[in-house]
Amino acid sequence: MTFDINNIRNDFPILQRKVHNRPFVYFDNAATTQKPLKVIERMDKVYRETNSNIHRGVHYLSDITTNDFEAARETVRNFINARHDHEIIFTPGTTAGINLVAYTLGEKVIRRGDEIIISAIEHHANIVPWQMLCERKKAKLRVIPMNDNGELLLEEYRKLLSPRTRIVAVTHVANSIGTVNPVKQIIEIAHSQGVPVLIDGAQAIQHLRVDVQELDADFYVFSGHKMYGPTGIGVLYGKEGILEEIPPYQTGGEMVDQVSFEKTTFNSLPFKFEAGTPNYIGAIGMGAAMEYLKEKGLDEIAAYEKDLLEYGTRRLSEIEGLYLFGRAKEKIGVLSFVLKGIHPYDAGMIIDKHGIAVRTGNHCAQPIMERFGIGGTVRASLAFYNTRKEIDRLCEAVEKVKEMFS
Ligand code: PMP
Repeated sequence: MTFDINNIRNDFPILQRKVHNRPFVYFDNAATTQKPLKVIERMDKVYRETNSNIHRGVHYLSDITTNDFEAARETVRNFINARHDHEIIFTPGTTAGINLVAYTLGEKVIRRGDEIIISAIEHHANIVPWQMLCERKKAKLRVIPMNDNGELLLEEYRKLLSPRTRIVAVTHVANSIGTVNPVKQIIEIAHSQGVPVLIDGAQAIQHLRVDVQELDADFYVFSGHKMYGPTGIGVLYGKEGILEEIPPYQTGGEMVDQVSFEKTTFNSLPFKFEAGTPNYIGAIGMGAAMEYLKEKGLDEIAAYEKDLLEYGTRRLSEIEGLYLFGRAKEKIGVLSFVLKGIHPYDAGMIIDKHGIAVRTGNHCAQPIMERFGIGGTVRASLAFYNTRKEIDRLCEAVEKVKEMFS
């Protein structure tokens, strides 16, 4: 076991810096995570030593980079336990992956009057592409409601499923309040009616062990930058059968087999969905991030984060006038709160002056804020490089905010 918090913090150069003359505390991990040296150095090495465009080259460096890119695909396959390498499609990120499915599967299967089910706790990225698809096709968007703790109501979900349901798309973990959804069960219920399911794993992949075969997900999407990897790269996992059936999304080079002015035939999986030069250095960097996480131990990370969440929940709950949103039994390290009589933006600005980065606003999840009857929250989202001492500093900063507004 190599989980040692001091060593881990030393792996992240940015955590050593100061902000407003104070040791930097980074609690905006749900927006993006910081990068360990292993990732930075791996990408730096490609730029310095082996950079060449992939697949088409016959020359030495192109061969090395192609192998490294395809090795990253295998690393991803292994990380999420997909059956085949070619079920791993590199995308620019979660948003791109969801749009890909909406424009391929969606265009193929949705007809007028059909229904798509999402949930009340989705990020805008898993709402708007489906809403736009519904508009194009004159279909209907159905929403699984939640209770006051931020947990989805599965009985309501069962009622929403109908012979018109064509797609279910739900998040594994809610970015705004941290709820972990029972996605295995959600998938099982959809499959009992023959409906395919997309899972938005943007906030799950960095906290939970994800096994796409065990979940039996048809699609699983996530972003590299939220799991300690680089920006501009993500993954769409899709089951081989369904990826074979759906049409390509973006078209152009790489994704083709034969091209003439009369007709084009398409490349095989996964290349059919990777038009143009992919972000191969990003993919290699994301592979390095996955290797780093495995090295530190996924279970050890989860246990450490659970402790931090419990500590943070307890400490913040002790503050008078502070209300925490998101009290699901199953949740990851998101502390989303409001302070009585204080706008989240004002609170966030003052907290920042203490060298602590939190996020304020609706967290790209306006419907859930509306459901709670608020405009937004202050959100401290935790990562395994955070500490109890940092949570103490957040609590001190919150007390200062209260003093200033009293
Ligand atoms: N879904 C969820 C649950 C998210 O938290 C985010 C990012 N905040 C996204 C989708 C979109 O991810 P990206 O911006 O990397 O495409």
